[in-house]
Order: sequence, then C-alpha cells, then structure tokens
Amino acid sequence: MDNSRDTILNYQEGQPGEGTDKHDLKWVLFIFMKMKINKSILELVEGDITKEATEAIVNAANSGLRGGGGVDGAIHRAGGPQIMEECRKIGGCPTGNAVITSGGLLKAKYVIHAVGPIYHGGEKGDAEFLAGAYLNSLKRASENKILSISFPSLSTGAYGYPFDEAAPVALKTIIEYLKHHDEIEHVRFVLFGADAYRAYESALRGMIPMP
Ligand code: ADP
Repeated sequence: MDNSRDTILNYQEGQPGEGTDKHDLKWVLFIFMKMKINKSILELVEGDITKEATEAIVNAANSGLRGGGGVDGAIHRAGGPQIMEECRKIGGCPTGNAVITSGGLLKAKYVIHAVGPIYHGGEKGDAEFLAGAYLNSLKRASENKILSISFPSLSTGAYGYPFDEAAPVALKTIIEYLKHHDEIEHVRFVLFGADAYRAYESALRGMIPMP
C-alpha cells in the first residue's frame, strides 16, 4: 500500500500476556497479530466470533436474512430468537450491503448482517461485492457509534470464495476505511481455523511493510 509506512505506527504479534520467550513466540505467531491504522487497532485472531465481546459482530448472512449454516447458524444459535425476529422485520439485504440488529443473548450488543457474494471465479464483480459487504458493515458501525467490531471471513465458506483471494480485498477495504474514520477504535478479524488465519496473516504481511 502506498503511504502505509506513515499510517502504521505500531506493529506487534503474539498473545496478550505471553512472554517473548523464543519458545512461546513460535507458537503464538499463528494466533494473534495486531497493528495500528491511523488511530485505530486492527487485529487478526483465530477463534469463534460468537464468543466475541466487541460491541458488534458481523454475520455472513444471505440476502433473505433467513439464517443458515456456517457462522450464520452459529450466531443465531448463540444469540437466540430475537435476532431472527429483527431480521424478519427488515426482510432482506442485497449482496454487497449490510443491515444491523441487536445482539440478543450474545456478548456483542449488535449484529451487523453483511451479505457477501457467491464466488464466480473472481468474475461478475465478486471483489466489488465483497468489498461492499465490508464497507457497508463499517458504515453501519459508524452510523451507530459502535467503537469495536469483529468480522468473520465473509463468503469463504458455503459461498466458495478462496481465502487467499478474499483476504486482500477484506483487509484493504478495512484499512482504507480506518485511515479516514477514527471513530471506530478497534476492528478484529476472528478467523475460524489455522488455514483462514494464515491466509489473512500472509495477505496483511504482503500489504504492509513489517518491521
Ligand atoms: P458464507 O456463506 O459467506 O461463505 P459461511 O458461514 O459458510 O459464510 O463461512 C464464512 C466463514 O466463516 C468461513 O470461512 C467459515 O470458516 C467461518 N466460520 C464458521 N463458523 C465460524 C465461527 N463460529 N466464528 C468465526 N468464523 C466462522
């Protein structure tokens, strides 16, 4: 990225509370990465987004907001029926956009339901729709004065987007937004499994000159 050297003020990897003992470091490198973009923190972690305590979590929803498998099913199961009731009232959301509901029984106060594209081999505007889903999620967060938000890797499950193609689109969209919107203080990517985590870590390393 062009002027990223100026915007990355701080870079850190490891796990909170871990020592920097060489032994530990080898292991923790896989599960935690943190950096500052303008005034905001961007973090990659491996984990389950339903357990996140950020103010909002993002759901990989379908355009009918009907719930489903993957992270969508997990969020509705953990959050209880209130979230689905609100989704029914909203009625739907076009691909590339995002809507907001309360978080029901979740630790997160809000769920932002983002609709990523079904992967078409990188054609038919796949990347634009994917970027739109991230961008509109961030806009819903800003509109609702949400200070912290966690994202899953949108479209990379049932919708078939390869991690290595989705990760740069997702990260670039978020980094560009944070450069101009310091009202969101903290963005976390909560990546389900080591493969997802590694793809995002490697994409981030490719974009940002690391010390
Ligand atoms: P999509 O239909 O947008 O592809 P999926 O839910 O099928 O949505 O998958 C999106 C991503 O969410 C996948 O990479 C999947 O591994 C991940 N995922 C599934 N369950 C969870 C969870 N509990 N927390 C975080 N990510 C999850």
